This record gives sequence, structure tokens and C-alpha cells, in this order.
Amino acid sequence: MSYQHQYIDGTPIHFPLGKVVCVGRNYAEHAAELNNPIPTEPLLFIKPGSCTVPMDDGFAIPQDRGGVHFEAEIAVLIGKPLSKKPSEEEVRDAISGFAPALDLTLRDVQAKLKEKGLPWELSKSFDGAFVLAPFVVADAVEDLCDIGIRLTIDGQVRQDGNASSMLNPIIPLIQHIAAHFSLQPGDVISTGTPAGVGPLASGESLQVELVGLSSFATRVL
Ligand code: ZN
Repeated sequence: MSYQHQYIDGTPIHFPLGKVVCVGRNYAEHAAELNNPIPTEPLLFIKPGSCTVPMDDGFAIPQDRGGVHFEAEIAVLIGKPLSKKPSEEEVRDAISGFAPALDLTLRDVQAKLKEKGLPWELSKSFDGAFVLAPFVVADAVEDLCDIGIRLTIDGQVRQDGNASSMLNPIIPLIQHIAAHFSLQPGDVISTGTPAGVGPLASGESLQVELVGLSSFATRVL
């Protein structure tokens, strides 16, 4: 099941699928629920584009590597190159769209890696580890500090956050990322998960929303 960037009306977005730059612990309440300290600067990690699958068809999770946690996140599509120290205006101008995404995490594997101080890729970069919905156009969002992200599983709201609670809001976060490495059209920023993460199970039905902007039904195969 191959992935291509697209808008919610089905229009394909002709950027190659690039890397997915993720930020850990970008909401204080989520850092607390996993007993993690709040980082003093953004905690970044990268998922390869190859782990991305579209949200629409349902998605599979690994069955033999311990618990798989959902992390609902606001994903930002980059549409213009960004590097060095872009201004706020350059970052805003480089954003092509917003979508809800699931940053799937092998939590037991990650816990072992964290214990040993090792990188997180084995827990974060498996095939299918990033479930990405189609994007709304960037202009649909007026205030980047007021975007709601909500995940409902089998009718129960499990995560209900807002960009207003981010420790690193979207624009400064992307400025920080681009100061360290280049971003290219087709790259995606996954901006961290609010509180409420938990395990997924096969057969569950999910509704993933950018509140008031887009909403997607999917399921765990
Ligand atoms: Zn995450």
C-alpha cells in the first residue's frame, strides 16, 4: 500500500515523500504520563519516509514486538526548502498543509532502548509506523497556535489536545529544526502528542481529527 501526499479533496501533491521529523515530549502532560522530564530544547528524532502509510485503508501493527502505542499528532507538510535560520515568515510561507497523523511506537522496545541510552529507531521506524491522513491546505489554518487534535477509539475520546499547549509551538519548532538540518519539499513535521497515549489492538475503530478542519475514520487491521 504505497503512500503519496494528497489534499483532502484527493488532489495529489507532487512532492516526493521525504523524511518525517518528529518531536518528543512537546506537551507537558504527555511527558508527565510517561514519567519523562520536560526537555529544555526540542527532542527530535526522524522516521524515514518509508514507514509512512495512508490513513484511509486501515493499518496493520506489529504482532510480535510488545505493545504498540498510538500517538495522535498534528502533521505539517513542508512545501519549500528551509535551512539555516529561516524567519517566521519564511516558515509560514513554506508550509503546504496540515493533517492528523499517528506516530506509532513500540513502547516496550522503546523502554528498553531508553534504559540503555540507545537510539529509538527500532521502536519508531518499522514499516507502517507513521499513519498519515490527507492534508488541508495551509491557508485553512488561521492561527497555528490553535489547532485541535483528537483521537477517538471505539467511540471513546482518548486524546484531545491543542497546539496552544505545545511547549515548542509550530513556527519556532520548525525554525529550530531547520537551524540544525535542511528541510525539503515533501518532508513532514510531526509535532508531538498530547496526553492520553495507550496501546492499540487489532479490530479497533479510530476517528482521527484536526478539530473543525478534517476528520478520518480508520481501523487497526
Ligand atoms: Zn510522537
